[in-house]
Order: sequence, then C-alpha cells, then structure tokens
Amino acid sequence: MQNEAKLFVVATPIGNLEDMSPRAVAVLKEVELIAAEDTRHSKRLMQHFGVATPLTSHHDFSSAAEVQRLLDALVAGSSIALISDAGTPLIADPGYQLVAGARALGIEVLPIPGPSALVAALSVSGIACDRFRFEGFLPAKSAQRRKRLEALAHEQASVVFYESPHRIAASLGDIAAVFSATPERRIFVARELTKKFESHFLGSVVEAAAWVGADENNARGEFVLVLEGAKEEGDEQQDALLRAVEIARKLAQELSMKRAVALAAELTGARKNALYALMLEESD
Ligand code: SAM
Repeated sequence: MQNEAKLFVVATPIGNLEDMSPRAVAVLKEVELIAAEDTRHSKRLMQHFGVATPLTSHHDFSSAAEVQRLLDALVAGSSIALISDAGTPLIADPGYQLVAGARALGIEVLPIPGPSALVAALSVSGIACDRFRFEGFLPAKSAQRRKRLEALAHEQASVVFYESPHRIAASLGDIAAVFSATPERRIFVARELTKKFESHFLGSVVEAAAWVGADENNARGEFVLVLEGAKEEGDEQQDALLRAVEIARKLAQELSMKRAVALAAELTGARKNALYALMLEESD
C-alpha cells in the first residue's frame, strides 16, 4: 500500500500574525507532528491559532539520528509539518536534510507558501528583481565580509543579504567601501518588515552607510538588504558617453571643440572618437 504520509513545509509570519494563511493553520492542525526550530517560540504561535498538535524540535544542530527519527515517523505513516521561527523554512533556516531525506524515500513534500523576508523586501525595493542572487548572511568578520563582497563586484543580478542588528552598521560600511568605485550603485534596506517599526531606505551605498549611523533606531531590528546589480559594460560606456557629452558641451563654450572633447573624454573615460562624432552630430 502506498504511504499517504506527507511532509509539509509551512511558512509562518515574519512579524505580523495576520499574515498566517488559513491553509497553514489547517495543515498544522491536521498533521500528527510539527517539527519546529524552537519549540518554545512556536508554542506561542500555535496557542494563538488554537493548534494542539505535538511539537518536536528540529534545528541546524539536530543530529543525523534526530533527522532519521522524523523520517522513520514519515515512513510509518505520520504526516509532519516543518516550520521555522519565522518565514519560510530552509531559507537561511534549518530543514534541508529532512526535505532531501524525505524526497530520497519517495515521500511527498508539499509547500504551504507564505511570508519570507527575502521576497517581501525584493518586492517593495524598487530595485530590479527579474534576476536576483540570495547570499544569506555575510561573514561576521570584516576581512571575510569584504572578500565576499568583492567577489560580487561584477554580479549583474540584484543581490539580497540578511543582516542582524549587531552587524548592520559594519556591513553597510563595508558595502560602501567595497563599492566606492561605483558610488551610484543603489541599495535598499528593509527594516522590521510587517512589524510596528517597519522602515525602508533606498539610496546609494554611501548614503545607506550614513543613514544607519544617523539615528541609533536605524540599526535596531531585523534587516534585509537588496543591492543593485552591476551595470553591463555596454551600459557603463553609454553612461560615460552621456556624461561626457554634457561636459563637452559646457567646455566647448570656452574651448575649441577638439580640446573640449579631449578633456571630457579624459574626465569621464568615454571614447574620444564616439564623443567627437556625437558632438559633431549635435552641431549640424
Ligand atoms: N526563513 C526566514 C525567511 O523566510 O525570511 C529567514 C530566517 S533567517 C534565520 C532570519 C533573518 O531574516 C533575519 O536576521 C533578517 O535578516 C531576516 N528577517 C526575518 N524577518 C524579518 C523582518 N520582519 N524584517 C526584516 N528582515 C527579516
């Protein structure tokens, strides 16, 4: 007979309890067991929604034997719901071994989708989210953090990080330092999403570092950072050319066209021939 037991991966609110879906509550009530990252924390959530299902602990430090115990329960026919402290399990949260193990045993694994800080931040950032890279938490030590950031210098997709209040100021400082060659690169800082003191900041990497230091409240709470991707080389050259045209136009009021073009090209890194051709087109 086919095993009907299922493993449900259930998203829970990231701050606002009203974001809990009715389907999530129904599944949590129906399963035989809830595997939770922190049972004490989740007990309060379960009480709020009237869920009486037994809770068992499942976290990053769960041993292989503890994961196996849950897999054995699934094989024996008990359905399990996996939850984390907040948001979607496995997104910078425990659960990978359990999900991979269940799949390997041919057990059906079903998502009960809902909140995730990553998607919530991206969706309101105003930064392109057609392509993004999720980097989770940056390293705790500055030297390693900068190294990781340097490796992202040419990433054209938007990059999303999670950050804690203890490190937000240091991380934004390192981001500003590493991306100082492209100070116009923007970053979105989402603080306390869906909570009472939710706030958002969108600006250049340099402005963000200043923003977090401007008020101690800005460094409180939980954070998601969305860093704009690097421009394609063609785009950068096009931008330099447009800047160069503006400068050359002004210089040409005082200097010869040839001299104005040479100086503007030197100042912006634009190609001299392309700039000269554009300026000639304008003066026709
Ligand atoms: N699995 C969760 C999810 O789907 O978003 C993320 C878990 S991860 C251990 C916790 C981190 O997520 C926090 O340190 C913070 O960076 C981010 N986060 C969680 N809730 C948040 C919120 N309400 N506002 C901003 N960031 C949040």
